[in-house]
Amino acid sequence: MKISAIVLAAGAGRRFLRTAKTGFPLNKVFYPLKSRPMFTYSLGTLSQSREIREIVLAAPSDLVGTLRKKYVRKGFARKISSVVAGGKERSDSCLKAFQRTRRDATHILIHDAARPLLSVVALRKLIRFARKSDGAILGKPVAPTIKQANQNNQIEATIPREKMWEAETPQIFKRSILDKAFRFYKTNPAPVSDDAGLCERIGAKIVLVENVTPNIKITTFSDFCLAEKLLSNGTAGTAKHGIAQKWGMGYDVHRIVPKRKFMLGGIKISDQFGALGHSDGDALLHAVTDALLGASGLGDIGDWFPDSDKRYRGASSADFLRKVVKHIKDTGWKPVHVDTTIHLERPKLAHIKEKIRSRLARLLSLDKKNVNIKAKTHEGLGAIGRAKAVAAEAIVTLGMNHG
Ligand code: MG
Repeated sequence: MKISAIVLAAGAGRRFLRTAKTGFPLNKVFYPLKSRPMFTYSLGTLSQSREIREIVLAAPSDLVGTLRKKYVRKGFARKISSVVAGGKERSDSCLKAFQRTRRDATHILIHDAARPLLSVVALRKLIRFARKSDGAILGKPVAPTIKQANQNNQIEATIPREKMWEAETPQIFKRSILDKAFRFYKTNPAPVSDDAGLCERIGAKIVLVENVTPNIKITTFSDFCLAEKLLSNGTAGTAKHGIAQKWGMGYDVHRIVPKRKFMLGGIKISDQFGALGHSDGDALLHAVTDALLGASGLGDIGDWFPDSDKRYRGASSADFLRKVVKHIKDTGWKPVHVDTTIHLERPKLAHIKEKIRSRLARLLSLDKKNVNIKAKTHEGLGAIGRAKAVAAEAIVTLGMNHG
């Protein structure tokens, strides 16, 4: 599946401004939710899907320039391929964004920026269902009793709710179906409140996919406060495990022998003597790799790169680390901090610690300030003190990978 996503952030959000009473003259989706603009949350979630190759953002016309400069192909928003000015109705904005999507996309996914709590789990489920139909949308079976009333709020009927669903976004459609729906819309431009509505008009088969995770639409300021609460206590958000951080520890020790290259933290620190091992024997990188596996509940380095396997003889430990980091990122997490201690008698590391720190930061795609290296000697005590061994410890923090 090759999916192009459209995120709609062009609505005026008048009800929100009225209820917020903050005098904050900003479209609600750009309003800071916790510490960053509301619309960035769903961008983070959408970016985590491998099938989604690009995101086209529809924004208010006065913000298009700023948003282009700030977000297109940058950081967590690196999948944003373009920002377009929204149109008069929802479907007009959608159509303008649709025209900017890649022609080779097989599916188009449409999401409201005002639903920041979209979870990775719900997104994956939706995409799975989309394979078997013209389209699929997230939704929830209606729980409350629904009344139909006249203009004076007098009840006319109680609507049986058994067959009723509340529609959410994202909604995903085959490109060809949406294309047909837009052609129909151009000649019959009656407004609809969601995108499935357009496709229903041309008789497309769209399935409802039950979303069991919170995905509220922020309409009023109290919705906003609720979203903030749900994000704070870990009930919602992009965290598919319900928590936003995980920790892991790692430890490794290697015997030191003469006439071997000594690798530590991916840096050669001696030619005369070095750590014995099946691979290059880099105790620090092994400890960090184990800490990453620990935080992810993925076993240890021996499970992943067994020393009984010939392929790993003399292997670069930096490659082990890269492989594990990639796997973790694909599962929606990433390293955010690492602290380490090296136990080594000689050579002294004072002059080389910064170099190891930079190398480790690069391997983990971290800023240097989030990488720490501590070095200890054992004052002549034990095997490490006699310079017969090197040991390393690491503790790693993982956070959500927003792309
Ligand atoms: Mg080792």
